[in-house]
Amino acid sequence: MARQPSTKQLSDWDRKYLWHPFTQMQEWEQEKPLIIEKGKGSYLIDTDGKKYLDGTSSIWVNLHGHRHPALDRAIKQQLDKIAHSTFLGLSNPPAIQLARELIRIAPTGLTRVFYSDNGSTAVEVALKMAVQYWQQRRPEAGSKNTFLHLKLAYHGDTIGAISVGNIELFHTPFKSLLFPTLEADPPYCYRCPLSLTYPSCQMACLDPIEQILKEHHRELAGFIIEPLVQATAGMITAPPGYLTRVRELCTKYQVLLIVDEVATGFGRTGKMFACRHEGVAPDLMAISKGLTGGYMPLAATLTTEEIYKGFLGTYADFKTFFHGHSYTGNALGCAVALASLEVFGKEKTLARLQPKIKTMARHLQPLWQLPHVGDIRQRGFMAAIELVEDKETRKPYPLEERVGHRVAMEARSRGLLLRPIGNVLVLMPPLSTSLPELRRMVEILQASIETTALLPASG
Ligand SMILES: *Cc1c(COP(=O)(O)O)cnc(C)c1O
Repeated sequence: MARQPSTKQLSDWDRKYLWHPFTQMQEWEQEKPLIIEKGKGSYLIDTDGKKYLDGTSSIWVNLHGHRHPALDRAIKQQLDKIAHSTFLGLSNPPAIQLARELIRIAPTGLTRVFYSDNGSTAVEVALKMAVQYWQQRRPEAGSKNTFLHLKLAYHGDTIGAISVGNIELFHTPFKSLLFPTLEADPPYCYRCPLSLTYPSCQMACLDPIEQILKEHHRELAGFIIEPLVQATAGMITAPPGYLTRVRELCTKYQVLLIVDEVATGFGRTGKMFACRHEGVAPDLMAISKGLTGGYMPLAATLTTEEIYKGFLGTYADFKTFFHGHSYTGNALGCAVALASLEVFGKEKTLARLQPKIKTMARHLQPLWQLPHVGDIRQRGFMAAIELVEDKETRKPYPLEERVGHRVAMEARSRGLLLRPIGNVLVLMPPLSTSLPELRRMVEILQASIETTALLPASG
């Protein structure tokens, strides 16, 4: 193999040839890109050999750390057999075994696995399955072909996924392409849309949702929700019992419950899936990010036997689910996903995570004292700090101030990589993070907030 070009050369080529996701390239071109060459455990290592703590699990995907021996081995062993063969008309051993394992650990009632390759496609598949299900299985229910979702929802970046999403900044240019949906306010307690306080509110934000379901259930194929934590919205955590009520309402009004566990799945909330906290049985579930332990792009949409049966018939009935991707059921991805699930068993990942969750909460506690920390939200091993210009009035910083970004740059210079969402700093390290690493992350986070000049905006 040719020798790797110098960091300088790579930097130049990066700025000359690449277009990075969610990145203002005009600014990127002015900066020196951080080029990651290696990883080990909770650390990422750049081309100059500098080490950084991976405070976001490489944007929410990594679970057991980088270069985990069992995961590395699984890919190498699979590679000695075959990297990929199509799933259209053929099957393969790791995809079959992984499906069996996923159904074993999935929330009650989910019995079938449909693979794709990223979170957005897993969501698209769920939406399409829901719509086609109603047409074929329950034609008497009428044309149920739209969806209810929460404001500030994020379900991916493809057109269908953004149709059921609501992040103004990301979605505005595409408004004209999106299909119509119904929206409801999220349980954003820090900025309660009803100006109430939990628990005395008794989750009054569910009343308008029931109203929408009551009025529109004949048009609604499903209600799609990020269970327990609306991650991209800034880790908006739903109060306990909220998801249970959503399930009850969906059942009452015959609307499918689609849970998007792309961010919350695989232990992030402290249990394997967020639905498990409330014993909720969804009709469809999208998973991706943590599925392969952060190694390979792979996703799946899980559903019930009831929905699956809606697609059965002879070929001539044309009830087939006509959907698939070139890399569906990729053997390398499935092999490493299987290895990741094995690690959960062997290393008792979830049991060992519980004290870490408590430690994270304890370390974050003192940050409440900082003058610009408005809210700290944590669910399991997912945490967010919302910075505000005025703590008293909860006035947000204008986005153009880029306070989150500025704190993250400070943290980077101190050896911690973060990726904030606007004014919200997210801490979501690998589940395997050690207690000293966790302490170090929060120390750097605190110092970075303290030293970044977070002044009230001028004027
Ligand atoms: C990241 C994310 C997605 C999109 O997944 P991609 O793999 O980036 O397409 C969908 N839903 C949720 C909840 C996510 O966090």
